[in-house]
Amino acid sequence: MNPQIFSQFIQETFKTKELIPLHEPVFNGNEKQYIEETIDSTFVSSVGPFVNRFEEAITRFLKVKKSIALVNGTAGLHVCLKVIGVKESDEVLTQALSFVATSNAIAYCGAKPVYIDVDLDTMGMSPKHLKTFLENYGEIRENGTYNKKTKKKISACVPMHTFGFMSRIDEIIKICDLWKIPVIEDAAEALGSCFKKQSAGSFGRMSVFSFNGNKIITAGGGGIICTNNVQFAEKAKFLSTTAKDPHKWEYFHSDLGFNYRMPNLNAALVLAQLEMFNNILESKKSLFLTYNDYFKGKNLLVKPPKETTWNYWLMSIRLSNLEERNEFLYQTNNLKIMTRPIWKLLCRLPMYSNCQRDDQKNARFLEERIVNIPSSARI
Ligand SMILES: *Cc1c(COP(=O)(O)O)cnc(C)c1O
Repeated sequence: MNPQIFSQFIQETFKTKELIPLHEPVFNGNEKQYIEETIDSTFVSSVGPFVNRFEEAITRFLKVKKSIALVNGTAGLHVCLKVIGVKESDEVLTQALSFVATSNAIAYCGAKPVYIDVDLDTMGMSPKHLKTFLENYGEIRENGTYNKKTKKKISACVPMHTFGFMSRIDEIIKICDLWKIPVIEDAAEALGSCFKKQSAGSFGRMSVFSFNGNKIITAGGGGIICTNNVQFAEKAKFLSTTAKDPHKWEYFHSDLGFNYRMPNLNAALVLAQLEMFNNILESKKSLFLTYNDYFKGKNLLVKPPKETTWNYWLMSIRLSNLEERNEFLYQTNNLKIMTRPIWKLLCRLPMYSNCQRDDQKNARFLEERIVNIPSSARI
């Protein structure tokens, strides 16, 4: 794999010699019109019609019961964990191969992440390793499952759909059901992905998507919680709007809430983006097919797992070792082609270095080899 020849191919594909970002948004729908409408209406903040319209559109798209739009995906994860009942000094099963936000949200609750290895093909939590961990350390008591080693309660499980690839979410949920552990899907990267025709974010008790600037559609900054449980939805909305009890004028807050609601201005942008979603998906698919052609017969391009639909969010290649990876990153970035390694395992970060984990063999293998390549839609 020659990084220089690859860079030339990228410059030809994206028709520029300027900086080529990893993932940039495209705005060629109703974005400007909707934002102008919010300004003209003066309803730019967290009350306004675009917030409701966006929530309803996502609810319909995913075929879930309720959606609650928030300021970002991290806030969404934080609220889900609170609603599910994660308490201070509890533990939450998750993956070390993820963006830092997944573990941060757990830590914001005063809980501790426990890292389960991933599968090589999905790059998401491995049901096999999850089962082994629970058989080794889990102990079912009356009010939930406890960790035999630390004596702490395991109060949730948060798998993540890496780069929009579906994790083995059905098996993960089956195992967690046996152990009475609620599953929250970190679907931040997976809007539009499906497992056997069912949407990412519709499997867990609750799920979260992100609409940050680098995600498949953007609100500038934003996130959404989805759930089929109406009570969870009400609780999530309550907590994210400062936990204020409804009243015509009194300020009474009956719990410690958060100011996490999505502003109407951001909802206007992301609703316009959602209207263009099919075009964005088409364009990203065609880029993937272009890569597929380029890498034909080379076994470098990472392909989505079987029986799943992928949203083509972030494309990646799997190089043969750390040295080759580092050389590739150095050469391509030098030529203003943005390429990035997959995340450093979260158990290597100072805040999470003392968290319990299994051997992380697959996660370490991927950590040394996976590199993301430019993946923007070109409309
Ligand atoms: C982007 C992302 C988040 C957080 O979303 P923000 O909107 O940036 O707060 C959480 N988890 C994963 C896996 C993500 O990629």
